[in-house]
Amino acid sequence: MQVPADYHMHTPLCRHATGEPTEYAAQARAVGLTEIGFSDHNPMPADDFDDWRMRDSDLAGYISRVEQARKDQPELTILIGLEVDYLPGYEQWVRDLAQRYPWDYFIGSVHYISESWAIDNPNAISEWKRRDPLEVWTAYFERLTLAAESRLFDIIGHLDLCKKFSFYPKQDCTPLFRKFLRAARENGVAIEINTAGLRKECREMYPSPSILRLAAEEGVPLTFGSDSHAPGEVGLNFAEAVELAKASGYTKTCRFRRRQRQAVPL
Ligand SMILES: [Zn+2]
Ligand SMILES: [Zn+2]
Repeated sequence: MQVPADYHMHTPLCRHATGEPTEYAAQARAVGLTEIGFSDHNPMPADDFDDWRMRDSDLAGYISRVEQARKDQPELTILIGLEVDYLPGYEQWVRDLAQRYPWDYFIGSVHYISESWAIDNPNAISEWKRRDPLEVWTAYFERLTLAAESRLFDIIGHLDLCKKFSFYPKQDCTPLFRKFLRAARENGVAIEINTAGLRKECREMYPSPSILRLAAEEGVPLTFGSDSHAPGEVGLNFAEAVELAKASGYTKTCRFRRRQRQAVPL
């Protein structure tokens, strides 16, 4: 079996990852990957928006570090993308970012469900304790659906990130998942199996097996990502992820080149 490409990897420019792109690339070769893509956290119009993304002036350095990795590992296909936060009101900023380089893909992620609260931020976990999980999950999935409908992104990142700290609603959220998945399919957006969830409190990949089955049923395209924030995480748990994808009904994954999607047998 060919291991699928790892499209979700960070760099130290986002200020919470370690290791140079060339080290991630060397690790990818060591674990048998043939294709990877970098997707570091995008700059925002104001560099002090938060402290876990690259600054605007880092964009050129990001590209040159990834290009260096390409020179160091000529056998490996290395793509360049970004993980872009979706926040209503910043659509034009994302369109402008897209024009600044011939990117291979944008992963659209919802971390913020308001201007000030990133639901996956461990420093803001107290906010979860003050809220009803259903209210948070609903707000999160509404935003995720808008992200899919915006047509700004090629892949939606870590679909059920709201489970990260294991604050689960008692109610059945299937209608929220379905609404999002239909929007993804109708707008030609892929989702990813993101193995980083296994390393978080929820101890489960994003998305859950039941959501992945729904996604396969709806025909939403699929990519794979480790969400590496250190070289040792590249391609982590991919064999398990492929098994899960197949068990959920997927027979294909996809690859990107300059924001064009192609299907690849799984
Ligand atoms: Zn990160
Ligand atoms: Zn993310």
